[in-house]
Amino acid sequence: MEFLPLFHNLRGARVLVVGGGEIALRKSRLLADAGAVLRVVAPQIGAELHELIDSSGGEELLRGYSEADLDGCVLIIAATDDEPLNAQVSADARQRGVPVNVVDAPALCSVIFPAIVDRSPLVIAVSSGGDAPVLARLIRAKMESWIPPTYGHLAGLAARFRHQVKNLFPNVQQRRAFWEEVFQGPIADRQLAGQGAEAERLLQAKIDGEAPAATGEVYLVGAGPGDPDLLTFKALRLMQQADVVLYDRLVAPAILELCRRDADRIYVGKQRADHAVPQDQINQQLVALARQGKRVVRLKGGDPFIFGRGGEEIEELAAHGIPFQVVPGITAASGCAAYAGIPLTHRDYAQSVRFVTGHLKNNTTDLPWKDLVSPAQTLVFYMGLIGLPIICSELIRHGRGADTPAALIQQGTTSNQRVFTGTLANLPQLVAEHEVHAPTLVIVGEVVTLRDKLKWFEGAQASI
Ligand code: SAH
Repeated sequence: MEFLPLFHNLRGARVLVVGGGEIALRKSRLLADAGAVLRVVAPQIGAELHELIDSSGGEELLRGYSEADLDGCVLIIAATDDEPLNAQVSADARQRGVPVNVVDAPALCSVIFPAIVDRSPLVIAVSSGGDAPVLARLIRAKMESWIPPTYGHLAGLAARFRHQVKNLFPNVQQRRAFWEEVFQGPIADRQLAGQGAEAERLLQAKIDGEAPAATGEVYLVGAGPGDPDLLTFKALRLMQQADVVLYDRLVAPAILELCRRDADRIYVGKQRADHAVPQDQINQQLVALARQGKRVVRLKGGDPFIFGRGGEEIEELAAHGIPFQVVPGITAASGCAAYAGIPLTHRDYAQSVRFVTGHLKNNTTDLPWKDLVSPAQTLVFYMGLIGLPIICSELIRHGRGADTPAALIQQGTTSNQRVFTGTLANLPQLVAEHEVHAPTLVIVGEVVTLRDKLKWFEGAQASI
């Protein structure tokens, strides 16, 4: 081991920073976060650093460095671009036996800064011993995505119950098993979901030996439009914890793959014409599974609250007192528009955007057509393929120009994405010509022309 990782208590301790530029500022921020009192010496000090020094109760010395600046300091940071000066600071600090860090010069350091994941009081430090800081940073980025921002609150929860648990289990093994259960089960879920009081109640019940209530929980998770990269961290985390996953046709196989391997997978997909599993049956199934104590992920294409019937599902859950969480997802409109190069709004072309269901009841024209024809408005039709001829002709009949640009985006954001552009007049024809299938999103409005202006091409997103 090149360096021994230690966590340094700097609260109220004086730290010398030599340098007043950007790098000095970055290091100073970390030091201030850890409660250090900053002494910064540099001929010039930026405004932000100045404020930081002030709020840390420290001092700024607007001049060159002198050896005496080290007096009373427990840690020295050299952050100048003057190499001989950095070497001098390092030598002086070592002479006095005070830990020193010289930014970007591992050979001059007795201590180095790790890449940090801060979930205080939980802090993770990663170091490559100065050999490959980029590698350490990449590992850090991975952990940032895996460890929820509120994870540190679990440590706080544990701290509040530590004594009780210690009294209950004098044996270390028992204690460890207890905490492992807590940190990986519904109590942790509650805490991470920001329901601290409920987490405490459940933990107290567990300590008091009360049998845990057998209710599980349902997560209504937006899986986005198809590209697995568009999942949120929260969606992925809950998918990884699920005991059961209910999914439908819109959820791409690549996304399903990301669920916990041994989770049961139940297909509840609906085709437009034949409703494979009726909605009320899905609702009941969610309730029944949760009652068995399972953690149920209901995966929804796009966003659960946008034409996803998420509202109906949670109504049922709420009526039965089943705890649930809703995780938003990227809706097809945002996903498809971004991947097809069509901004949904634009200063010059569209001041508003409207998400409309194209699923016409009984093939009638029950949409508020008059509201849909105002020119500076982008229309996005979900489920609009079958009703497309009616949609186009009604829009034209109510006053939207037949030459209004329009686009069809099939399987947007996936590797099978196809985009066709035309006008309200010829859109249905394009569907027939190119054998366009569901899921397809229809975008109507001047913004569609921007796709050509932006010289968008398929795969552009991949090359960004
Ligand atoms: N809750 C979903 C929408 C469900 S309605 C969301 O927020 O995106 C189903 C309709 O969404 C489909 O008929 C289609 O119009 C649209 N859709 C969903 N995913 C799509 C995709 N990847 N590409 C194109 N359209 C999509």
